[in-house]
Amino acid sequence: MTEATFWLYDLKIEVIATDKPMVCNHQAGDYFLVEGENIIFGPNGSFPLYPLAALLPLLPAKQRDTDASDWISTDAVIACPDPHCGGQFLISRTTKRQFTHAETTGLPDQRGVPYWDKSTGNTSP
Ligand SMILES: [Zn+2]
Repeated sequence: MTEATFWLYDLKIEVIATDKPMVCNHQAGDYFLVEGENIIFGPNGSFPLYPLAALLPLLPAKQRDTDASDWISTDAVIACPDPHCGGQFLISRTTKRQFTHAETTGLPDQRGVPYWDKSTGNTSP
């Protein structure tokens, strides 16, 4: 039996500058990554809470294939929620990562070894 699989894009969210100064503690070039369910902060190790909160609802949609006519497919630059801040955020789809249903679901009768536990050699759900 073949396992049911699906794909998600990995994302890079990078701060870009405009002609307005930054208000928040994000600088041009700062970034974080999204890989599956995980957020990985860039070298500076942090990202301000309020722009992160504004970006979070968009990220699961950006991880998935969307219709070419859908704005979520074409629009990649999001403004900082602080109207006085010059920061903008470029969301890029970087690569695709494949998951199985069993390694990601919480449904007890369909649950396999979590994807994050496979590297430990664990083979039981
Ligand atoms: Zn900002």
